[in-house]
Amino acid sequence: MLGEYYRNGELFIAKLIRRREENKAFLTTDEVLKDVKIDDEFIKENFREPVIEFLGRSNVSERSTEGVIIDLFRKYFEVSGNVKKKMLFSMDIECEGDLNESVIPEKLKNRFKTEGFTLSEGAAVTKRKENEWVIGDKERFVVRKKAGKLNIYANTILYASFLNTKRGVCSYCGKETEVFDHISYIFPLYRKIDSITPDEAKLRFCKKCGFTLYCGMAYLYKKGKSKARKAEKNIRFFFYSHDFDALEEINKHFNNQEMLDVSNYNEINTNRFCVSAFHPYETLFVTLFEFVKYLKRKNLIKDVGEVIKNVKLILAAGSGQIYSHRSIEGNILDKLTRFFVTIIEESERIYKGIERNKRPKKEGPADLIFSGFFKNLTINKGDFGEDCRLREEFTRHLFSEGMDFITLSAILMERKKNNQRFPPYYTNFIVTYMEVFGMDKELFERINRLGYELGKEMRGTNLENFVWEIHRARGAEQFYTSLVELQAKLKTSIDLRPINEYEKGWREAKAILLNGMLNAIYGGKRNE
Ligand SMILES: [Zn+2]
Repeated sequence: MLGEYYRNGELFIAKLIRRREENKAFLTTDEVLKDVKIDDEFIKENFREPVIEFLGRSNVSERSTEGVIIDLFRKYFEVSGNVKKKMLFSMDIECEGDLNESVIPEKLKNRFKTEGFTLSEGAAVTKRKENEWVIGDKERFVVRKKAGKLNIYANTILYASFLNTKRGVCSYCGKETEVFDHISYIFPLYRKIDSITPDEAKLRFCKKCGFTLYCGMAYLYKKGKSKARKAEKNIRFFFYSHDFDALEEINKHFNNQEMLDVSNYNEINTNRFCVSAFHPYETLFVTLFEFVKYLKRKNLIKDVGEVIKNVKLILAAGSGQIYSHRSIEGNILDKLTRFFVTIIEESERIYKGIERNKRPKKEGPADLIFSGFFKNLTINKGDFGEDCRLREEFTRHLFSEGMDFITLSAILMERKKNNQRFPPYYTNFIVTYMEVFGMDKELFERINRLGYELGKEMRGTNLENFVWEIHRARGAEQFYTSLVELQAKLKTSIDLRPINEYEKGWREAKAILLNGMLNAIYGGKRNE
């Protein structure tokens, strides 16, 4: 994951250099990177730039202080309270009394000045705990009493990280050079497990690699804050491509006002999305649907369709102990795009056919199938996270070219129990997905039809409860026995061949059959 993230940093650094150096304005990213020099000067001059991209101009400006930026970081990254601080200098203990009375003694102010830091008029000192004070100014300083001395530490991005180096081997490029190991701002997706990591296994970076990784945040997208009460709500993702042009292109298109919150730049703006979601995969799924919808409206499907095959998406989710990441390859992104385009076009066609006064009020023409189906996959548990848990499980499979009929069946049974409606456009959604992903949809259609036909005969009779009998069947034999029994009660004969032919096993065949039945029993009008 580090290498993929690094690539985003390189892309951004090339952009910075093109912007600053006129003679390089027309070079390609590869050409610019060939002789890039990242020294202290460059870092000091540019360290705010990726932050502005990531957190938005309303939060950060060219003049924002490191203290302001660190406070913002703490909302989004897992920056531990005990960030390593650079010790600037030591003083005699005599100042302690002043500090306790919230006074910064002149002697200390002067010492700051000789060390190259100027405290502003508004600088104030507060006691944080025994033997520790904080000087809250535009730069943050911590004073600690230790062994009869007062040590002054800087709590800043530059002095804690890039400028606080010692000899060592860079974990990224492998060079032996000046490296630093305070990396919580550098690679925000790295879990801080310092306490259990042996010293030699800790990641440390040289200035060039460290600053490049740090710049990766310019193309990092997020939903939720790291400290959100429900960690599952947090997602972070970024794109990767071996081809810089493709990477730039996909980011350019994703960085639009409809996808992102303009006041909070790289935060995904879900307010306008047609379905609200809670967990990582379902949030990403809805986000990609909305992205494709946007591309389609802007006539960009063809351009981006070519690019997306060469791109992959890396998703990191959760925070604290619950944390995982997953990479979604270009061929999946490409198929998902085609799947979304197909259901959008079909939705628009269906929408046109609905009488004007009967058209849904909330959903737009493009949303009909997606929203109708996906929104109705939640169950009623009284807590949104719980309501969405099964849908999350179902969606996770959609990112792996899989249709999880068994989870889907669990959702539909649960919804039936709670008197929630059967998800409209069930068949449209599934058949289109299977078509685009090259799955055998024929057998699905046969079993689905069989279930639907049976369901039609059961509808309105006391045999409706038979779905529970089938649902509870614990083995293949029990499943077949229940079908034979149903057959006898309906005084009809069922052609069980499609079920026998279903190679993926009786459980999945049972799920498809049940879903078809439920669709007929409580699905309202046939929607195709
Ligand atoms: Zn390096």
